[in-house]
Amino acid sequence: MLSIHSIKAQNTKKLLVIYTKEAYLKSVKEDTNKALVLLKKYVPSIKLDIKYATSQNIFYQKLYPKAVAYVRLPVAKALAKVQEELKSKGLSLKIYDAYRPYSVTVQMFDMLPDTLYMGLPWTGSKHNRGIALDLTLVNLKTRKELKMPTPFDALVYASHPEFPLVSDEAKQNRELLKDIMKKHGFVVDPMEWWHFNYKSNTNFEILDLPFKTFE
Ligand SMILES: [Zn+2]
Repeated sequence: MLSIHSIKAQNTKKLLVIYTKEAYLKSVKEDTNKALVLLKKYVPSIKLDIKYATSQNIFYQKLYPKAVAYVRLPVAKALAKVQEELKSKGLSLKIYDAYRPYSVTVQMFDMLPDTLYMGLPWTGSKHNRGIALDLTLVNLKTRKELKMPTPFDALVYASHPEFPLVSDEAKQNRELLKDIMKKHGFVVDPMEWWHFNYKSNTNFEILDLPFKTFE
């Protein structure tokens, strides 16, 4: 871990990253909204398909030790509202990724140095701040994913959330996802229909702590 940080030190000079459990706990003591919570605890019905906990991802390797989704407290509360509204339509959220330790973002960029689509080590990703999600919609009855313009992590134009040349069905589903997320305080990423950031005035720091810190 230390070697990754020192290699990237010149790029991250101005980036504030919390590396210790003590510093994280201190930030939570000052602002309880900064707690990272297990999403399943707040939204038990939410589906998880944590791609980076498997080798079924663009890196063809497992980057997380466990398939878990942690988010900051207000994000969990907002997602509970999204899920409640989706339930009335026979739908559910399915999470591909939530909180991601900063060192994993650095590791990803080393493997795939794409400045357009990848989280950048010198700015950090909102995933590192616990306020970003990669997700889609599933049908509660069939448990299948709704048709979307592309699969998760497809680095193509059709992934752009406004891309017009997609089927009516995919467009309808994408717009439904965007509308419902927006209604509950999320902003879609300009490059990826599946990525949403939670809007907040709080400065949620970048964290480089393993999942087990929050257990
Ligand atoms: Zn994302």
